[in-house]
Amino acid sequence: MRPILATISQSALQHNLAVVRKFAPHSKVMAALKANGYGHGIERIAHGLSGADGFAVLGMDEAITLREMGFEQPILLLEGVFHADSLAVVNVYRLSLVIHCYAQIEMLEHSPYRHPFNIFLKMNTGMNRLGFVPDDYLKALARVTKLTPNVTLMTHFAAADELNGTDAAMAIFQQTTKSLPYPSSLANSAAILCQPQTHLDWVRPGIMLYGATPAKNTVATEFDLKPVMQLTSEIIAVQTLKAGETLGYGNRYTASKPTRVGVVACGYADGYPRHAGQYSGSNLLQGVPVAVGGKITQTLGRVSMDMLFVDLTALPEANIGSPVELWGSTVSVDTVAEACGTIGYELLCAVMPRVPFKVVD
Ligand SMILES: *Cc1c(COP(=O)(O)O)cnc(C)c1O
Repeated sequence: MRPILATISQSALQHNLAVVRKFAPHSKVMAALKANGYGHGIERIAHGLSGADGFAVLGMDEAITLREMGFEQPILLLEGVFHADSLAVVNVYRLSLVIHCYAQIEMLEHSPYRHPFNIFLKMNTGMNRLGFVPDDYLKALARVTKLTPNVTLMTHFAAADELNGTDAAMAIFQQTTKSLPYPSSLANSAAILCQPQTHLDWVRPGIMLYGATPAKNTVATEFDLKPVMQLTSEIIAVQTLKAGETLGYGNRYTASKPTRVGVVACGYADGYPRHAGQYSGSNLLQGVPVAVGGKITQTLGRVSMDMLFVDLTALPEANIGSPVELWGSTVSVDTVAEACGTIGYELLCAVMPRVPFKVVD
């Protein structure tokens, strides 16, 4: 077996859920488990998050998995259904639905099911992705409330990680929904951490549950979040470059001095980003932080499909078999993401199916 492994910590999940409760003590918590639990594996994380008041997913398969695991909480389909025939499954598994457009209301109006659906009616407060514009919202609500009394008012923020970034959306939402007798759900992780006025009845944390930061220029530890996934591997070969020698595909990196290089069993086919590190021609400006034997060094050269290179020049004790942390508690996924020009969300979701997982307490 290749030495690569993703380890999932149940206690970190429980801890991060407690952090959500600390930030939003008066709100119910709808844990976002979409994209297979942000790449962690829905079956691997659901027990650690069993204290949540509800789950939000995208795929019917994810929702069914959770119900069949025995969870009785509300399970919300974040984009609702795409075709009316899916309502049969929604009915059998008692799933909650986002309704974001009139076509979905028509599906409900024509559905043969008696059991009243549980609806999260989505308003578009400026993100212009899903939802009814404020002018249509009350019309949509009137049609939905003819079908079911179980309605939650909902919107999603475009810029909850920015100072005052939810103010305009919040004002639109409150103006449109004022004095309506229904609960509301607005806040994602960034809003939970940075915009307490948005918490209301249901918060919808995603990334913070996995121990990564939702907000620019912040680190997860400043919110007391713990990384849930640790991606590790080992050094499988060591090379010594003379000054002027190059490394890997495209001769992307040229050694400016004698350089000891470790080859790590992790590549882009495992989900490590290929565009790692900044170069000027073949001169390294900055690699991506990586920990070898607990000490931080950096990647060198181009990431290949199954391997990547790390600088061992300052780590003479490192050798074949030395443990490598690609991300986890020594090097946060946010640090890696930042150095690769992306966000922790993308790296976590992109861990490939060939990577074996292990769940620990
Ligand atoms: C994914 C998602 C969330 C969670 O967002 P995070 O930024 O990961 O906290 C909340 N609400 C909706 C509608 C989502 O799609």
